[in-house]
Amino acid sequence: MDMIDPFGRTISYLRVSVTDRCDFRCTYCMAEDMTFLPKKDLLSLEELDRLCTVFIEKGVKKLRLTGGEPLVRKNIMHLVRQLSRHLDSGALEELTLTTNGSQLSRFAAELADCGVKRINVSLDTLDAEKFHQITRWGNLGKVMEGIDAAQKAGLKIKLNAVALRDFNDTEIPELMRWAHGRGMDLTLIETMPMGEIEVDRTDQYLPLSMLRAALERQFTLSDIPYKTGGPARYVHVTETGGRLGFITPMTHNFCESCNRVRLTCTGTLYMCLGQEDAADLRAPLRASEGNELLDAAIDEAIGRKPKGHDFIIDRRTSRPSVSRHMSVTGG
Ligand code: SAM
Repeated sequence: MDMIDPFGRTISYLRVSVTDRCDFRCTYCMAEDMTFLPKKDLLSLEELDRLCTVFIEKGVKKLRLTGGEPLVRKNIMHLVRQLSRHLDSGALEELTLTTNGSQLSRFAAELADCGVKRINVSLDTLDAEKFHQITRWGNLGKVMEGIDAAQKAGLKIKLNAVALRDFNDTEIPELMRWAHGRGMDLTLIETMPMGEIEVDRTDQYLPLSMLRAALERQFTLSDIPYKTGGPARYVHVTETGGRLGFITPMTHNFCESCNRVRLTCTGTLYMCLGQEDAADLRAPLRASEGNELLDAAIDEAIGRKPKGHDFIIDRRTSRPSVSRHMSVTGG
């Protein structure tokens, strides 16, 4: 039975945050002194596998592992290997992940061996100094090694960059030429008001409509219908021959075509990235060995999926629209 929400949208895409921990502290994402979940609160990898399997039985075709940083979760490849059986059976069409790239050189070959074909790597700048500044703890050289290893293993990479005013806005043409020159798509993302951070989001926020207009002074961008199952809208760039995506939660709400729900590493299901409402799946998961309770809890949650998010960034509202950080649910 497909999962269909009250607005007639079929839910076929599950994003799973396998840990809230990360080895970076990107300034727009987290505070530097984050408090993370105690390890005992995490679902085991077996429990995560069971939950994902129930979602796949209920019609999920695309599954993305995210975090925190998914590749810092202990034994994460065990979960990837387990989930890959659903690729072999044909029940799942795509298994993928979003990563900061720091651990990719260790895991790229095994990911490819598990049937992962494409991954998203988050990279906001090619300048090592600025990279360290924005990630606080990151090392650009390690990420570059990871990208090299992933391409060598045959993984297709899409780069994701959060557009940040006065940080990387003028660097986007260079980032795009570099990505396209290496056969990677690049997607730009508007910063969303999620969780308390030390810096002022109003200063960081850059509407992509402005960035697109600036790019169009240098490049010929043509809208194309290309889709990857996510919310990005793509253009073809004549000068580079590559694809550029725009994810615009702030300036253009794309909720009408939302096909996603998000599961956290404690078994909480968020039906919308931009709303607080959630459903606990850990209790029904642990209450019985059969999946009937879980099945009913998922159906009930999908029945509550809201129409959309209403993020706002402005100087009058100093509080974030959503109290949890992006690292709870992943991108
Ligand atoms: N650690 C992995 C990574 O770096 O890709 C996965 C998790 S990270 C939270 C997923 C994506 O969310 C990254 O591309 C990150 O840049 C983006 N992100 C984090 N906080 C954000 C925010 N407040 N607004 C927009 N994007 C954000």
